[in-house]
Amino acid sequence: MLLFEKSRPGRGCRELPPCDVETVSLPENDRRRKTLHLPALSEVDISRHYSGLARRTHGVNDGFYPLGSCTMKYNPGINEAAASLPGFTQIHPLQGEDTAQGCMEVLHLAEKYLCEITGMDRMTFQPAAGAHGEFTGLLLIKAYHESRQDRKRTKILVPDSAHGTNPASASMAGYSVVSIPSNSDGCVDIEKLKEAAGDDVAGLMLTNPNTVGLFDRNILEITEIVHQCGGLCYYDGANLNAVMGIARPGDMGFDIVHLNLHKTFSTPHGGGGPGSGPVGCREFLADFLPSVLVSEKAPYRFEKPSQSIGEMKSFYGNFLVVVRALTYLLTLGKEGIPEASQNAVLNANYLRCHLKDLYPMAYDATCMHEFVMSLSDLKKETGISAMDIAKGLLDHGIHPPTMYFPLIVDEALMAEPTETESRETLDEAIGVFRSLYRLAQEDPEKLHAAPVTTPVTRLDEVTAARHPVLRYEFQTEDEA
Ligand SMILES: *Cc1c(COP(=O)(O)O)cnc(C)c1O
Repeated sequence: MLLFEKSRPGRGCRELPPCDVETVSLPENDRRRKTLHLPALSEVDISRHYSGLARRTHGVNDGFYPLGSCTMKYNPGINEAAASLPGFTQIHPLQGEDTAQGCMEVLHLAEKYLCEITGMDRMTFQPAAGAHGEFTGLLLIKAYHESRQDRKRTKILVPDSAHGTNPASASMAGYSVVSIPSNSDGCVDIEKLKEAAGDDVAGLMLTNPNTVGLFDRNILEITEIVHQCGGLCYYDGANLNAVMGIARPGDMGFDIVHLNLHKTFSTPHGGGGPGSGPVGCREFLADFLPSVLVSEKAPYRFEKPSQSIGEMKSFYGNFLVVVRALTYLLTLGKEGIPEASQNAVLNANYLRCHLKDLYPMAYDATCMHEFVMSLSDLKKETGISAMDIAKGLLDHGIHPPTMYFPLIVDEALMAEPTETESRETLDEAIGVFRSLYRLAQEDPEKLHAAPVTTPVTRLDEVTAARHPVLRYEFQTEDEA
């Protein structure tokens, strides 16, 4: 039941304090003509409503959540505590820079440490998410070529294992997308890349480790080929969880990087909450960035570079996400950051090695922070698909891995356990995966019916996708 349905006229929480300033009526034309539907409930009813919803969902605090490519790791409470400090929450974006120096120091330090981790020289925190960062990075590429009067570059190269946002962002930035196939070991096909590289290429967008969880061993050759033809190299660093503190995109030859602070750097995500997709670049691109922090000497201030692509978002981006990221960096420190990556890789390989005899790996090699299984043999033998196994996991309190992605793997399940899971949790999950495999052989009907313990069972996903109902329809649309 929705809040609107629980609503009763006249009910409510606290009254506002009496108005102590002069009231002025809005001009007739500006007044609302339809009823404003606001739910009216008591405080305890609202509180129970949301607690009830929270109980019906599955979060990292409820159990294992190996959703590949999403890095659903536990986010330490201290990051929330820092982001709740009144000095950070009670500021106004329009207040003078001289009164917000502490917050600007947060941005300065976060930029310094994240540039160190990525091997970049400058960074903007304006982009609100990963895809927004990609778009920003592509505008940097465009501005760079235009500044050199080089207008024939209309193509962006994107490996076929890329995250779906990459080709979408390139297309939004006005480029045509050339897909580069992967070879049989899951890495970029070098010969195909060489064929595509030419003086019409503006740049390459690459995810490394790629979306099948492999570190491309030809990475230096790849960036070299693109630079040789005059293109720039863009690193999709949304999933930095395998390499942070260990390998730097800048050292791999990349010119631009975006990060997903809401994946790797400890902001909870997945619920549509605010994210942050900062974009770092090398010095020769810094003059194209949105307003950057000038920090050589106090006081800190923002300045728009002379050839700036303009602002990508109002004010400074989602600032509290940056506070969490900085807290995370400072609590883990120089030793803890690479250790988190090492444990993420160790956990992924532990899970992979204990499943691969039953669940064939799409690419049977040491993986980074995630790996992809292909269930196509199981489906042929038993009729049990990746979707059925995913639904079966729900009955065991485990969130399914990412399904049917990347598209280059048939019946794909992509698992990312993250560094924060204990050996016991991993062993328990391995046991569940193995028992579901047996169930697929012995009693597939049971798996077709799963889940049976969740608030809703199998949903009509086709109708939900084709005819999404995204708004509540009020029964009376009373006109004034
Ligand atoms: C999640 C992800 C993105 C997109 O990030 P959003 O914040 O959802 O826009 C881009 N690339 C990769 C590799 C990702 O995993």
